Amino acid sequence: MPSLSKVLQPIAPTCPAETPAADALKQLTSSGTDALLVVKNGAFVGLFGHREALAAFADGSGPVESYMRRPLPGRNIADSLESGADIMYREDTPVVLMTADEGPLFKKTSRTVGIVSAFQVLDEIGKTTTDTASNKVFVGRRDLGLNVPVSPCQRACPIHQDIAAYVDYVSQGRYLDSWLVIHETNPFPSMLGRLCNHPCETDCKRGWVQGPENAVSIKSLKRFATDYAWARRVTIDWQRAPENGKRVAVVGSGPAGMTAAQDLRLMGYGVDLYEREAKLGGLLSASIPHFRFDLDQLNWEIQMIVDMGVNIFLNKNVGKDLKLEQLLNDYHAVFLSVGMMTGRILPVPGSDLPEVISAMEFLRVRSYDIVPDNFPRGGDVVVIGGGAVATDAAQTSIKTGARKVWMVSIEPADRLPAFGNELVEAREIGLTLHTGVIVNAIKGDSSGHVNGVEFIRVDENKLEFDPESGKLLINTVQKLPGTEHVIPCRYAIFASGQIMDFPQDQGVPLTPRKLMEADTGAHTKVAKLFAGGDSVQGPSFIVDAVAWGHRAARSINEFLGASVPRDAKPLTVIETTDDHREADYYNREEPPILPAEKRMDMTPVELPWNDEQAITAALRCFQCDTVHHVDESTCILCGACDDVCPEKALDVVVYGENRDTSSGGFVEICNTVLGEEFGGKAGKILVNYDRCTNCRICEDHCPVNCITFQRVRFRDDAMQMIPLTPVASAAKRPVEA
Ligand SMILES: Cc1cc2nc3c(=O)[nH]c(=O)nc-3n(C[C@H](O)[C@H](O)[C@H](O)COP(=O)(O)OP(=O)(O)OC[C@H]3O[C@@H](n4cnc5c(N)ncnc54)[C@H](O)[C@@H]3O)c2cc1C
Ligand code: SF4
Ligand code: SF4
Ligand code: SF4
Repeated sequence: MPSLSKVLQPIAPTCPAETPAADALKQLTSSGTDALLVVKNGAFVGLFGHREALAAFADGSGPVESYMRRPLPGRNIADSLESGADIMYREDTPVVLMTADEGPLFKKTSRTVGIVSAFQVLDEIGKTTTDTASNKVFVGRRDLGLNVPVSPCQRACPIHQDIAAYVDYVSQGRYLDSWLVIHETNPFPSMLGRLCNHPCETDCKRGWVQGPENAVSIKSLKRFATDYAWARRVTIDWQRAPENGKRVAVVGSGPAGMTAAQDLRLMGYGVDLYEREAKLGGLLSASIPHFRFDLDQLNWEIQMIVDMGVNIFLNKNVGKDLKLEQLLNDYHAVFLSVGMMTGRILPVPGSDLPEVISAMEFLRVRSYDIVPDNFPRGGDVVVIGGGAVATDAAQTSIKTGARKVWMVSIEPADRLPAFGNELVEAREIGLTLHTGVIVNAIKGDSSGHVNGVEFIRVDENKLEFDPESGKLLINTVQKLPGTEHVIPCRYAIFASGQIMDFPQDQGVPLTPRKLMEADTGAHTKVAKLFAGGDSVQGPSFIVDAVAWGHRAARSINEFLGASVPRDAKPLTVIETTDDHREADYYNREEPPILPAEKRMDMTPVELPWNDEQAITAALRCFQCDTVHHVDESTCILCGACDDVCPEKALDVVVYGENRDTSSGGFVEICNTVLGEEFGGKAGKILVNYDRCTNCRICEDHCPVNCITFQRVRFRDDAMQMIPLTPVASAAKRPVEA
């Protein structure tokens, strides 16, 4: 760990001890520092920060020295960053005075050389540890000095949800607490609790131990907590920073735009949201079919954001009704999150017939509860494409009353890009798959109406797939002449890709793939213009779009020169966590779905869990955010914890003794020197958190009971839960334009 010299700053502004507190406060505010150093007789005698200023004004103003904090916390610049964080935490101080040793050995003197601030110490700890830690990343967050482990699932999650905490709260029956933790980073848990692609589960440690199919059901637990909150009609009343007078335009109300709008309102910006559709939500409400989620819950989540004071302008097509240039003139910043809502129709013969539609348009129209013109209730439908959008279009066709629905793809059945479970569900309600073929033409009858789709077989042995994304490499498709065949039908749906259709004359820089050009922080090359979500990344996932929204809001805030408001500082919570060893006996379970015969309309198909199912699922979590806390004054370095650890995750290292150090651990949880009665030994305990499963056998076997397990997390004190009144009424819903 580097030393505190790395973050040394010049002495903070000073003030004489006799300064009236009111004047000192003015100086504090104008200097923008965390604290003033108080000087008396040429020496630093104390510190006057915002907390001291508050105390001064509670009982009338006197001189600074009556209120200052003393003695002044100090450290040597050779001390480690962690020791600086430690004193800041213990003393609850934002600033520490730094000294350096001078002179020869045995005649050393100490000289004041500057200060360090908590903000910089923790920033530096965060940087150095996240760069090197392989599993549990110890990140010193912007709080005073506590190291917080980040579990593998949290690292894998694009919005870094505090999964271990919200899963643990479910296991304890604290369902509303769980929902609040989820909302700290996720404005759409009802959607992500059902539809997330859950990269967190792919990286879950339970999956490492019991096999990937047995990861903790992180996604479904999110849904469980959200159902509970929805059933009680609660909502979140965010404490926002005061209005800062700056205005931001957000274009597009998908998850990226809505998340950015929420974050910007929290930071005190005025937000105007422009949406082309007649309702908010982007693809969530205007494309993803309603049988896959709970529309009322989505509207509740959208309403919480609108209620933060976002000004909504529906049916406003930016680039057409309103020029981008005008927005750039009228606002301090503009965020484009326009997605890729237009579907591609392949230009094969007959693709202009009236019964040909893109899956995106088909699903968009259905989302308004309208059956598209020409849709053949009782007739046959062919969906061209093998991905998730094709599956949604196919299931929606069945549920809209088609007699027979085909889903036709180039990829063979075992390489379809669609999600496996959705394909199974679709086949259970009657979907027929036809694979290894490519569309040749749409066939029409003599009166110009679709009566079939012609396909030609491809050489499946020649098909190649991108090793990383698994996507078909289209240049490896070879048609097999003479294999042409027609599937009769009355309606053809193309699920063959999405297009970013923002008007090109608006001056937004594009990439060669015709996506908006922006970096991961959503900055474009145009001044004041930010872009993110699918329109930059290409078709991706809801959680990625939410992450774009957070990043864009942060970048806009940085661009406009504002700092994070002090009153929204997170609160530190330290919790002792329970032992979940009995959970080894349970396997993962998926939430049940309606039986096939009840899935023939747009009713949501996924059923809720009951308490027992949810708690059992939650108990399976190892709580990888929970770490050993060893009482160094009690530990006798006996090595019992090392001997009993079933994962060989821990080493007790004693100087001068040749002990086994095979765990590969580098996280130090104890560093102690024993008294003479124990031979004056010195040593440490190191843990490899890639191996540790938090089984707590070490805790059980410690003869002096010096190990406990604790979680340290930060609670967002800007969130306050209030009952929702009136219950998300139709009148309040933004979806009705
Ligand atoms: C059928 C389907 C099913 C999906 N299922 C899943 C799933 O199960 N899980 C998952 O994680 N992801 C899924 N996705 C992907 C996910 O929905 C998207 O990745 C996500 O919605 C992208 O968010 P966004 O905010 O970037 O854009 P969008 O959600 O596309 O929102 C963009 C918004 O911008 C508006 N807009 C566009 N142009 C303009 C303009 N000029 N002026 C004003 N407004 C404009 C649009 O009307 C739209 O409301 C699915 C996508 C589709 C199409
Ligand atoms: S066991 Fe729990 S904390 Fe650990 S990775 Fe899985 S869900 Fe996350
Ligand atoms: S909690 Fe279990 S796996 Fe982790 S160090 Fe202790 S005994 Fe080993
Ligand atoms: S078992 Fe307890 S006393 Fe012994 S080395 Fe481990 S922590 Fe220290």
